[in-house]
Amino acid sequence: MSKKIDDYFAKWNVDPKLIELVQRDIPHWIDNQYVGSGSTIPLIEPSTGEELAVTFEAGTELVSAAITSAKKAFVGDWANMRPLDRQSMMLKLADLMESNAEELAFLESANMGKSVVQALEIDVNASIDVLRYFAGFCTRIEGRTGPLAAYGTGNSGMTIKQPIGVVAAISPWNFPLQTLVWKCAAAFAAGCVVVAKPSEITPVTSLRFAELAAEAGFPKGVLNIVNGTGAVTGAPLISDPRINKVTFTGSTQTGVMVGQAAIPNMTRMTLELGGKSAAIVTADADIEVAVDGVLNGIFFNSGQVCDATSRAVIDESIYDIFIEKLVKATAELKVGVGLDPETYMSPLVSQQHRNKVYSYIELARKDGLSLPLDRGGNSAEDTMLGPVIVEDCPTDHPIWREEIFGPVLALRKASGLDALLALAEDTEYGLGASIFSQNMDTIMTVSKRLNAGTIYVNGHGFLDPAFPFGGLGKSGFGKDLGPEQIESYLETKSILFTS
Ligand code: NAD
Repeated sequence: MSKKIDDYFAKWNVDPKLIELVQRDIPHWIDNQYVGSGSTIPLIEPSTGEELAVTFEAGTELVSAAITSAKKAFVGDWANMRPLDRQSMMLKLADLMESNAEELAFLESANMGKSVVQALEIDVNASIDVLRYFAGFCTRIEGRTGPLAAYGTGNSGMTIKQPIGVVAAISPWNFPLQTLVWKCAAAFAAGCVVVAKPSEITPVTSLRFAELAAEAGFPKGVLNIVNGTGAVTGAPLISDPRINKVTFTGSTQTGVMVGQAAIPNMTRMTLELGGKSAAIVTADADIEVAVDGVLNGIFFNSGQVCDATSRAVIDESIYDIFIEKLVKATAELKVGVGLDPETYMSPLVSQQHRNKVYSYIELARKDGLSLPLDRGGNSAEDTMLGPVIVEDCPTDHPIWREEIFGPVLALRKASGLDALLALAEDTEYGLGASIFSQNMDTIMTVSKRLNAGTIYVNGHGFLDPAFPFGGLGKSGFGKDLGPEQIESYLETKSILFTS
């Protein structure tokens, strides 16, 4: 490991055991065993820009071996296990995550760059909640019975629900642990098995999660992990006919390719894709609440959030006071390294991603857009790109239209609810939106009208395991979380009786 990383970990007093753990090369995980072969991809620690370790890359053969192992578990040990035992195992896994929570948060921060405090509070703790929530479904998978409609009395039918089978779970890099746990928790509860492919940039906590699952007693093959890029590892995984469902979280562009690869086999799929979410701040909004909601909505995780409030539309009557408070609060946000407990915004995940985000910041400057706050740095080489606020952003500008996935907020003002709604609706995406208002009629009008899968009221981004999350429009289809996600891992069959 480089001296720069050594110094970084030393400065924040990282436990030597954790340093050892984060330095290990990341193998694949098949049959509850490490498989380390193939070419490698470097893993870069974002706060220092230095190499931490490498991950192996699985080609078609290893991907196939992982699917074979999963299939065996699906019809064997996992199928034969009592739902109550499956539930206990999921709860045990949640307990193990809890007792290793700080370690998981450190690994996530060192691999992805995010604030270690946020990693603990959001990524790890929320993942534990999701596991515990879904564990309850293991014994609650139920069909229905009822009379047939077109035949006489005495004829009846029933439905049964069966696990869909082998699930390919493909994750992005912004919430690596959380995305994997969302996918696995519902799949396990439904009785499915998973072959996961984490982002090639952030595989570290996924491997740790798999190890903890084995420690909790999960039989071999129930969770296999293959690492590597989309082209080399992801593509053969999703196009294998033995995969019964693909659950994909990532960009809309990749989602289209995933869909095209899955359709020839009629593989079921959930596509959780990109977004360009809007916050609507009406004339009667509580300004402090709105400022806090919009600020956290876009700058949390340095804007690397699929449903970030990358656009906000504000009623003209309160615009001046809103922008004054927003700029002041944003100017005070601490931009720093991931391990600094005071950090609110940490370095973006990779140089490649910084290049992309910085190109938008430069475009805004070059096009002379009004930037009441610009902490966007002077070069993409600068690991600390801070928050940028763009005022009166033209609606045909890429900053208004495209997913930047970084700390850039586009604002517009308008007069009255209809005008605010028209601006908010001006997107092909439909993942999230928020409404800041104290009027219930306004809240319900906006919620019904907006084309978004989740509408947050007087806040943003506070997801809950019991309520589904998923996009409309180009943000994809299908739901994660809630009972709706369980349904997506089940096939329903009808059994019809005649007397
Ligand atoms: P990405 O689309 O580049 O990659 C996502 C995953 O897909 C990675 O694991 C990647 O290796 C894999 N992949 C790439 N090509 C593939 C292929 N041909 N076949 C199979 N797998 C392939 O996205 P990213 O840059 O990792 O993540 C950022 C994107 O994810 C943003 O667009 C963001 O909005 C989106 N996202 C959406 C949600 C949601 O819930 N809707 C949540 C988080 C992130």
